[in-house]
Amino acid sequence: MRTEENKLKETIIQKIDDLTDDMKALARAIHEKPETGYQEYEASRLLCGFLEKNGFKIKRNIAGMETAFIASYPERTSGPTIALLAEYDALTGMGHGCGHNLIGTASAGAAVGLSKVLSKLKGRVVVIGCPAEEAGIDNAGGKVRLLEKGYFENVDAAFIFHPFPMTTVGGETSCLIGLEFDFKGKSAHAAGNPWDGINALDGVLQTFNAINAIRQHIREDVRIHGIVTHGGDAPNIVPERAKARFFLRSSSRASLEEIIKKVKACARGASVATGTKLKIKTFCNLYDSMKTNAVLAGILETNLNEAGLHVEGRKKGKGSTDFGNVTRAVPGCELGIRLGKGIVPHSREFLEISNSDEGHRVMMLGARVMAMSAFDLLYCPDLLMRAKREFKAESR
Ligand SMILES: [Zn+2]
Repeated sequence: MRTEENKLKETIIQKIDDLTDDMKALARAIHEKPETGYQEYEASRLLCGFLEKNGFKIKRNIAGMETAFIASYPERTSGPTIALLAEYDALTGMGHGCGHNLIGTASAGAAVGLSKVLSKLKGRVVVIGCPAEEAGIDNAGGKVRLLEKGYFENVDAAFIFHPFPMTTVGGETSCLIGLEFDFKGKSAHAAGNPWDGINALDGVLQTFNAINAIRQHIREDVRIHGIVTHGGDAPNIVPERAKARFFLRSSSRASLEEIIKKVKACARGASVATGTKLKIKTFCNLYDSMKTNAVLAGILETNLNEAGLHVEGRKKGKGSTDFGNVTRAVPGCELGIRLGKGIVPHSREFLEISNSDEGHRVMMLGARVMAMSAFDLLYCPDLLMRAKREFKAESR
């Protein structure tokens, strides 16, 4: 005998299967026109178009971001709201080497699948379109800005899917902040009268050296990595201006604050030593570490198993995501499904596989597992209550 629950689940799976061609085309189109953070106009338009065609009500251009959106089905409810998060930004200079074309599409497909049974349940599903997850650009962290503007206030639980080197539910990520050091010196002929110049590039180089000197004395969970973003204009001019950008990461907010102080001191020291003027700015939002909701993780794992997959290990990455901030505001859990063998995001190999049959297969599995998990939360209000209770207890 098929129970009502089984029938509804079959309806969702069938609908997601029916969407396969549309979803593949969507993922391919986003991959083939990579757009970096806050420039994801085409990706956002395609995802909104897909959701709108399937009956979702869309609000575009939200929280001060033209490429952010929220798509709801139904528009209002007296029941709970489950959010599936979409990312669709590409890496600067590399295209979709992090597979965000698969992430945005999986959430949109899962939400449409789930929407087919929502007339039988109390509650709604929203897809929140989150720009600029990759931290390399100015003001990165679209989710941080959506949180600040209250777009998660009515959300009861949030899921996101990411293709990864192994299959995981939840896990750990680092806190992250981006600092820019802008040195100003004085130009002069580099051979004719160098004694009249003040070399801004030396400010940058001394900053790197000073940071390298503190590496022995920082904890293992800390990562400091930077690039020179401007190093002068020509070798025959003493560089008047030079800039560097660094990411600082650590497992906790408190230890990140300590590292920020130390690294800023390195740059200030370099400025004194070289006689340059220094301006320090924070160029991307603070990404918090991820907090995994165990109840939601359990639901994801059950549905992974039902889809014939199993958890392969616990994510202990030193990477960062602004989904971390979401998990500190509402109960949330990230689903990772292994894509390929031994390949890691932000590589050429990952870029290729994100636009392959295998990438699409993993995306469809991600959509299915998220849709089933969101369904479970709406079908069994007790599960959602347990997830919320856990969240409250841990936030105390
Ligand atoms: Zn990513």
